[in-house]
Amino acid sequence: MKVLIATDKPFAAEAVNGIRDVIEKAGFELVLLEKYTEKKQLLDAVANVDAAIIRSDIFDKEVLDAAKDLKIVVRAGAGFDNIELDAATANDICVMNTPGQNANAVAELALGLAVYAVRNFYNGTSGTELMGKKLGIHAYGNVGRNVARVAKGFGMEVYAYDPFLTAEAIEKEGVKAVASAEDLYTTCQFVSLHIPATAETKNSINYALLSKMPKNALLINTARKEVINEAEIVKLMEDRKDFKYVTDIMPGNHAEMAEKFAGRYFSTPKKMGAQTAEANTNAGIAAASQIVDFIKNGNERFRVNKK
Ligand code: NAD
Repeated sequence: MKVLIATDKPFAAEAVNGIRDVIEKAGFELVLLEKYTEKKQLLDAVANVDAAIIRSDIFDKEVLDAAKDLKIVVRAGAGFDNIELDAATANDICVMNTPGQNANAVAELALGLAVYAVRNFYNGTSGTELMGKKLGIHAYGNVGRNVARVAKGFGMEVYAYDPFLTAEAIEKEGVKAVASAEDLYTTCQFVSLHIPATAETKNSINYALLSKMPKNALLINTARKEVINEAEIVKLMEDRKDFKYVTDIMPGNHAEMAEKFAGRYFSTPKKMGAQTAEANTNAGIAAASQIVDFIKNGNERFRVNKK
C-alpha cells in the first residue's frame, strides 16, 4: 500500500516523521511530494498510490481521474472545499477530513485578532477590552467550541448560532444559544465566523446581516473568504465608520479594503489559523491513522463524501 503526502505547502518535519511512523508501522510505504510547482507533478504522483494525505492542495476531477488506484484521500484539516466530492464518489474514492485537530490553533488566532483590533492594531493609542463584551459564534463546531472556551477566559459573554445543534447542546457548555443568524448579529458587538463554505453559506455574510451589529462592531473571519459578500462588506464599512473587520483569509478585494479602511481592516498575508506546529502534527498524524484504520478495518467515521 502506497500512501502519498502531496503538499504544496509542506508539513513541518516533525509532522512528516509522525506520519511516516504511523504508515510504516502499518506495513505501508510513504511517498512524498512537497512544494510541487506544476499540476503535472501532482498528476504523476497520484497515478499509482492507494491513499493520499493533502492540505489545501486541489484535488479536482482531473487529479482524481488520474489517481487510478486511489481509495482514500484525507484532507489534514477541517475544510475540504479543495476536493471535488462528486468526482471522488464517482471514482469510488473515500474523502475524509480530520475535524478538531487544528481547532485550538484557529481559536487562539481568532481571539488574538480580536485583541489586535480592539487595541487599534497596536498603534499605541488607547483601545478597549474584551471583558464583559458579547461575542457571537457563528457555527458552533470544533473551532467555535474552542473560541467559546478561550473567550470565557477573557470574561466575554458568549452566544452561538448553529442550526444543526440543539439549544441544549450549546447551553450545557455555558454558551447562550440564539435562534437565528439575525439574532446573533443583532445581539453581539463581536462576531466570530466558523461556518464552512457551502452552496448555502457562500456570500451569506452580507450587508443586511452585518448592518444589524451593535455600535463598534467587530467581525472576525477565520472561516473562508467565500462566505463574505465582498462588495457588500465594502459598502457596509463605508456606511459604518465604527465597523472593523479582521481575518486570516485574505479577501479577493484585499487591496481595496486595505486602502479604504486603514485602521479598521486587517488581513494576515497568508491563511494562518491552523499554522502551528501542534496543529500541523495533530492533523497529519490523525490523517495517517484514519488511512490505516480505513484500509485495515474499513472505518469510515470521518468520511465527508457520499458513497
Ligand atoms: P466543524 O465541521 O467542526 O464545524 C462546522 C460547524 O458549522 C458545525 O457545527 C455545523 O453544524 C455548522 N454549520 C454548517 N452549516 C452552517 C450554517 N449554514 N449556519 C451555521 N452553522 C453551520 O468545522 P471546524 O473545525 O469548526 O471549522 C469551521 C470552518 O473553519 C471550516 O469549515 C473551515 O472552512 C474553517 N477553518 C479555517 C482554518 C484557518 O486556517 N483559518 C482552519 C480550520 C478551519
